[in-house]
Amino acid sequence: MLYLNDTYQKEFESSIKSINSNQIILNQTYFYAKSGGQPGDTGIFIIENNEIQVTDTIKDQENNTVHIIRENVNLHNNQKVFCKIDWNKRYKYMRMHTALHLLCSVIPYGVTGGQIGYEKSRLDFDLKDNIIDKNEIEERLNILVLEDHKIEYLWITNIELDKSPNLVRTMSVKPPKTNDKIRLVKIGNIDLQPCGGTHVKSTKEIGKITINKIENKGKKNRRINISLI
Ligand SMILES: [Zn+2]
Repeated sequence: MLYLNDTYQKEFESSIKSINSNQIILNQTYFYAKSGGQPGDTGIFIIENNEIQVTDTIKDQENNTVHIIRENVNLHNNQKVFCKIDWNKRYKYMRMHTALHLLCSVIPYGVTGGQIGYEKSRLDFDLKDNIIDKNEIEERLNILVLEDHKIEYLWITNIELDKSPNLVRTMSVKPPKTNDKIRLVKIGNIDLQPCGGTHVKSTKEIGKITINKIENKGKKNRRINISLI
């Protein structure tokens, strides 16, 4: 899961660790596997001059990153692979994902769900009996974008996280735990929470955020949909 340290790596060399029909595990990868409401990366593998489409990336039960390829053309273990991530899609997901962190920071209520998409993304909040103003939220989000806050990463132990349960904003997504360390995502001084997704380096990269609509999902749940230019 090299993307945890560098989300801007679009191309890299690797080799095949294991093959199960059209499911490939590499010795190392920057592809993001579908999780936490963020779709898996797509892209291509170039193996001995053959271009092979990677149609999805998922996690298996052992937490390995599994690349789903369109066709298996006599591949074998240890073969060298040149990998290219579909950067247009991935970068949009990075901008969307970071925008959802900002949304989380301006709406101080429990998050009950979320989904990142290419055209639009959403977060669901349990608002209790509070009322939110669509225009005000949109304005506050875009101020945070223009203020250009930097995104940084901190690693803490499970014990440190258990001592600070208030860091976990999302009730539906468990924080990622890797080798007993958890990655926290810090956006300036406005948001700090455990997250294993992909983010941009600074909020200016998100661009203008539009709130499309706020839907009622149950008595107190509100679904907030956003899109980017
Ligand atoms: Zn995140």
